[in-house]
Amino acid sequence: MIHEDFDSLIKQISESSNKSSEEIQKLIQEKIKELQDLISKEGAAHIVANELGVKLFQQSASPTEFKIKEIPLGHNAVNLVGKVTNVFEIRSFKTEKREGRVASLMIGDETGKLRITIWDEKIIDKFPQIKDGDILKINNGYSKENNGFKEVHLGSKSQLLINPEGISVEIKENNFTDSITTFEKLNVETFGTVFATIVNVYEPKFYEACPQCNKKVFNNQCMIHGLVEAKQVPLISLVIDDGTQSLRATCFRDTAEQIINNEVLFENIKKNLLGKQMLFRGRKKINEMYNTEDFNIATVTEINPKEFINQYVS
Ligand SMILES: [Zn+2]
Repeated sequence: MIHEDFDSLIKQISESSNKSSEEIQKLIQEKIKELQDLISKEGAAHIVANELGVKLFQQSASPTEFKIKEIPLGHNAVNLVGKVTNVFEIRSFKTEKREGRVASLMIGDETGKLRITIWDEKIIDKFPQIKDGDILKINNGYSKENNGFKEVHLGSKSQLLINPEGISVEIKENNFTDSITTFEKLNVETFGTVFATIVNVYEPKFYEACPQCNKKVFNNQCMIHGLVEAKQVPLISLVIDDGTQSLRATCFRDTAEQIINNEVLFENIKKNLLGKQMLFRGRKKINEMYNTEDFNIATVTEINPKEFINQYVS
């Protein structure tokens, strides 16, 4: 009847019910006794699982687990593990054909991120327990494309385990790489992050600014705050090159301070910065005076260029 590895059954029941494997063994023995030994231990395990509300994993013909990046589209037996990065609210829906609930969340692994959409009511019942950072093990999901993104959907044949023992997942950290682009692709007045090399450095300038709103002031008069004690705020212009374009790029205030790094002598500032490769997030602008494209830097991020290139530039 059922040809499953007894130990793996115990493990599954234990992980899904938060009971120790000893407790599960005991329940199975009791069940066998109760049924006067007319049942195999595997059969008893299935009954115990049912009683505990545990959905046992079906033996899959291809038990291989996919990494997120490798999940093929249109596959209807997707097994994977991932770490939760976002949990969305459960939504109700009603169409002419049916009504019900749908839940979704994002998971990640070392290869990427993926949206999981859940249609199965039993799994949705467990959904409120799930929080950011939980490890999920998914069996028998089906993969499909939605709005140009790959998703895995869970239906009545799917199973979901929350924080199974002994599984850890590393997430590919790509907060800033989501918006990585090139100067060439970046539209004017749009924000983006480029990986670029500093190829020229201009002497820092200082201007007088309101200490409250950081706006430029003249004669200690802020347009918003009236008479203030102006502070000296630095700005520094660079030329940065990302391989597609070289643009004059300016850092203001905190970012300028960060890049100047308490250095006083211009020669030293220049020496420290020339050739440096960093991530620059900012906005492309038209410089009307010179009719050129400039880049206003909002933030700079120090990275290890070699690691960055290995991970994100193929
Ligand atoms: Zn002000």
